Formats: sequence, structure tokens, C-alpha cells
Amino acid sequence: MKRLGSTARSWRYVLLAFMLAPLLLALALDRAHARDSAAFDYGLVPRQIADGVYVLEGRKEDFSTANGGDIANTGFIVGTAGVIVIDTGSSRRYGEQMRVAIARITPLPVVLTINTHHHPDHFLGNQAFPPDTLAALPATIAGIEAEGGAFNDNLYRLVGDWMRDTEVVVPRRRLAAGRQLVAGRDIELLALGGHTAADLVVIDHVSGTVFAADLVFNGRAPTTPHADIPRWMEAIAQLERLPARRWVPGHGAVHEDTEPLRQTRAYLDWLSRTLQAAAESGLDMAEAMTLPVAAEFRTLALVEHEYRRSVVHLFPAAERAALGSR
Ligand SMILES: [Zn+2]
Repeated sequence: MKRLGSTARSWRYVLLAFMLAPLLLALALDRAHARDSAAFDYGLVPRQIADGVYVLEGRKEDFSTANGGDIANTGFIVGTAGVIVIDTGSSRRYGEQMRVAIARITPLPVVLTINTHHHPDHFLGNQAFPPDTLAALPATIAGIEAEGGAFNDNLYRLVGDWMRDTEVVVPRRRLAAGRQLVAGRDIELLALGGHTAADLVVIDHVSGTVFAADLVFNGRAPTTPHADIPRWMEAIAQLERLPARRWVPGHGAVHEDTEPLRQTRAYLDWLSRTLQAAAESGLDMAEAMTLPVAAEFRTLALVEHEYRRSVVHLFPAAERAALGSR
């Protein structure tokens, strides 16, 4: 009797579980949905840094499922006749949320959407912007065409569902250096390079704001997958001569003086001298990776990680140069 009684009780539990299952499933789905819409919210809040000039500051982190790829600075300038957008972020969702954030500030249309260079955290939000406004330097367009698909696939792996429905949209408007009125705003474009083959700097002359793209990092170690260090350092030297009132780096905080430029240049200088010395003394790549980061750069976010990546990017050329000089 005892055994029969316990079997009957077990069956009652099974029956109860069956009856409750649809209700529990519905509750779970509801909660998952609520969590999703909160989880895929970048929380973009543009910060006004000058009259009509806004920045959306990314985190000083590497790509992750926690940050959804919100690791670079984007910005926009509101003219009298429209909005100039500088970089579109890392995903379709980012671009869409950036547009909503812009629309909260001005009803004016976006008339120019610039991709400063071809790295994925700067252009994969393009889908959210009018296609005829998308513009970049010719070498950036070529870079997006050649590598955009692989970057997009890689970000799906690194940040997951934040990337849902993100596709590469290649800008068709080819930009050139020069100063002109854009949307009623006195804007100058500088066509530089060194971080990548083409890095576009945007100067807003009225406010003295320079969007320096990834030629300048602030408080975060520079990334070097497409770097030409001597050219990059030359570009920074050129930027240092500008009569700017504030600097928007590609990564890290907006700054009023040239300290982030000095910092980026000093790091690049140390990096290239370190790798050159390592190659000349016959170290191999694994040994070069174990070299300590100089004390003055240890406070830079991600510096150990970026140093090791830079060894992979730059050490083979340093080795070739060392062999050539023997
Ligand atoms: Zn970059």
C-alpha cells in the first residue's frame, strides 16, 4: 500500500507539472523578452561638448557580449540645414539607437554620414543611415569592400546577438580633403593615415573641435592591425599644429589639450623602438611578447592585450628590417 501511495503521489506531481508547463514557459519567455530589450540597449546618451557638437563615448574595453561592441567614440554636428554624423558604431542596433538619440536632439535630417576609417567599430552601424549620405575616403571604401564581410563575421563571434541583422553597407560618396560649408557648418576634412591606410579627421572650425578618429587614443592602448607607425606619428605631428580647442579621440575621453596626442605618439614611439630592439637582439616573437610594458603606459586600458596583439602585427616587419640591416 505504501509503495502504491507514493506512485500515485508521483503521478499527481507529473500531472501538475504538465498543467503548469505552458504557464511557466510563457512566464519565462516574457522575462527573456524583457531582458533582451534591456540587454540590447546601448544606453546611448549624446553629450554636448560645444555648441551643436555631440559625442557618444564608447567604453575603453575590447569587444564583448557585455558591451555589444560599444567601444569607440561616435559623434555628430548639428548645422543649420542638417546633421553631420561621424562614425556609426559597431552594429545595426547601434546605428539605429544612435539615430534615435540624434532625433531626440534635433529634427534636422542627417545629410552626411562619415566613416573615419574601415575598422568595424566605426562603420557597422551604416545600415541605419540614409545610403546616399554615407561617405568616406576612397581607401576606406576599398577597405570596407575588401574586409567588411570578415569584420562583420568576426564581430558576430565576439559580441553575439547584438549584431543581429547587421550587414556591411559600403559608402558610395568619396570624400576628399578640404574645407567647405556642410549643412551650413564650416567643416574641414583632413585626409591622413597611419592607423589604417586612410584616416579621416573632421574639424569643426566654429567650435574648434577636432574629431581625430583612431589617430588619437586617450587612456587606452592604441590598436595596430593595419598600422604604419612612422606615417601615424607624422599624422599626429600634423594634428598637433592645429589650433584646436578640444579633441575627440577615437577611443577614450574628450580632451581640451593635446595630451592624448602626446600620449599616443609616445606609446607608438616606445612600441616601435621596443620591437626594433627585440628583433635586433635576436628575440623571437614569443620572447618579444613577454617584454614588459614601460611603466608610463601601464595605466592605459588594455595595454598588455594590445601590446601582444601589436607584436603579432608588427614584429615580422621588425625582424625583416633587423635582418636587412645586418
Ligand atoms: Zn581603428
